[in-house]
Amino acid sequence: MINLPVLVLNQSYEPLNICRVRRAVVLIYQNKAEMLENGSGFIHSVDGEFPVPSVIRLASLIRRPYRSDRKMSRLEIFRRDRYTCQYCGKQTRQLTLDHVTPRYRGGQHTWENVVSACVFCNRQKAGRFPKEAGMKLIHQPAKPAVTAPFYLPLNYSALQKEWQKYLPRGSFYYAAEAE
Ligand SMILES: [Zn+2]
Repeated sequence: MINLPVLVLNQSYEPLNICRVRRAVVLIYQNKAEMLENGSGFIHSVDGEFPVPSVIRLASLIRRPYRSDRKMSRLEIFRRDRYTCQYCGKQTRQLTLDHVTPRYRGGQHTWENVVSACVFCNRQKAGRFPKEAGMKLIHQPAKPAVTAPFYLPLNYSALQKEWQKYLPRGSFYYAAEAE
């Protein structure tokens, strides 16, 4: 049981790698990770019982290098902002793109100047600077950090049902296991 695979997510919920239950329990015990999904059953030890983790999330963010070839698109902006309006913080699928510095005032169509905004906030802001509209950005927009390729053995993904919701859709994973 301590050799069962555990999906390790970054603090940002992005899949990082796979470790074994043994390692996951140590990370949780050291408060370096939290358990998101309990796989099956409990591990019995001298210190008591531990639920068997299946998905864990690291307590601190592992920084990944930027990938320069990441194409900017509507969808990528929404993904970067986690489908959250960058002005009011509402999470919604009904998002628009907002140029922080309006285009007609010299704003560029770049990662650093485009954010997700809900319809209401976009209307509210109109063609103004956030400050002029009395609005404030939740995060300073930047080019998204992209995780290094994450490989997941296919048989694991089929096996571990509770992993599915943490893995990007439409992606294929092959071979290789970290740690
Ligand atoms: Zn909003």
